[in-house]
Parts: sequence; structure tokens; C-alpha cells
Amino acid sequence: MSGESTSPEQEERPLIAVSRCLLGEAVRYDGGDRRVPWITDVLSVHCDLMPLCPEVEAGLGVPRPAVRLVGEEGSLRALGVDDPHLDVTPEISCYSARKVQQLEQVDGLILKAGSPSCGLTDTPRFNPSGGELGHGAGLFNQAVVAAWPALPVTDEVALASEVARVAFLMRVFRYRCHRHSQALVQARVPNSP
Ligand code: SF4
Repeated sequence: MSGESTSPEQEERPLIAVSRCLLGEAVRYDGGDRRVPWITDVLSVHCDLMPLCPEVEAGLGVPRPAVRLVGEEGSLRALGVDDPHLDVTPEISCYSARKVQQLEQVDGLILKAGSPSCGLTDTPRFNPSGGELGHGAGLFNQAVVAAWPALPVTDEVALASEVARVAFLMRVFRYRCHRHSQALVQARVPNSP
């Protein structure tokens, strides 16, 4: 509600960006979601969540043709699975370059595993004939890591255990603490003439 002041407890809450499909939003290419109850029902009590979906926010719509990553590291393209002439690399890359600039206040990210956009390490890569070349990061995640190399980023698969969830949250709180310290230092440095 407007006009309400923020409590000290709210000010301490970390901000975590989360893939929209993990929050239960029907944004996947097939109109489905991949809701993770721990994120929606538990994490949301302790942290503020910032939903994001690179493919929908890049304007690709729901439902949309499935895409996969084709090529080698450094020259990856997001091409249609059924129609290899469909190339949505410019849309996803353009969105990613814009969105990472808005992550300055974010303390961590939880992204969807295996996705051509959001995947961390397990997104399949293919050659133009459809043969698998290996696995790696999705296009949006690559942009995040390049822009914010120290930012804690994980996926829902890595957060399957209680131990992993606690470890991730510790990284988030440490990062937040460091970010605030840096901001304080910068605020105290006098402007150069
Ligand atoms: S994996 Fe990423 S791009 Fe795909 S639906 Fe989920 S949030 Fe959107």
C-alpha cells in the first residue's frame, strides 16, 4: 500500500530473481510451468522474489516453438527444434543485455535447469544435424555471469536438498552484505574535483 513505511525486517530481506516457470507461471513454450513449492511457499516468506522469463519478456509469446542451442561456445544460436530456420538468438540476446543491467539490486538468482535461455550448466548443445555436442549454460545465464560474476546463481535441481538450500542462502546473504558495504564505502568517498 502506498505511503506505508518499510520495516527494518523488510529492508533486510534479500531480493532473489527467479525464473517465472519455477514460480508456477504458465510461461513455458508449451504453456506449462515447473512450480517449485519450496520457492513459492517457503523462500517467498523470507525473501523478495523478482520473476523473470527471458523468452516471454523478449516477446516470443506462449505457446511458442521449442528452441535448442546449436553450435559451439561463443557462436551458439537458439534455433527452432522443428524449424531450424527459426532463429530467436537476437531476441534473447537483446533482452539479456538489457535485463542484466537491472540486476544491480538483486542478491541471487534461481533459474530453470536445462533451458536454452535459463540453464546453468546442463543445457544441451547440438550440431546443425541434431547430434548432441555436450552441455553448458543458456544464453541468458551466460549474460548474467558475464555481467555479475560474483552474483550467486543456482537452479532448482541444485536446490533439491536442504543442505544445498541453506548453502545458497548463505551465499545470498554474504553477497548482499558485501554489496551494501561497497555502497557505503562509495557513498563516503568524496567526489574528485
Ligand atoms: S526456463 Fe526460463 S525462458 Fe523458459 S519458461 Fe522458464 S523462465 Fe521462461
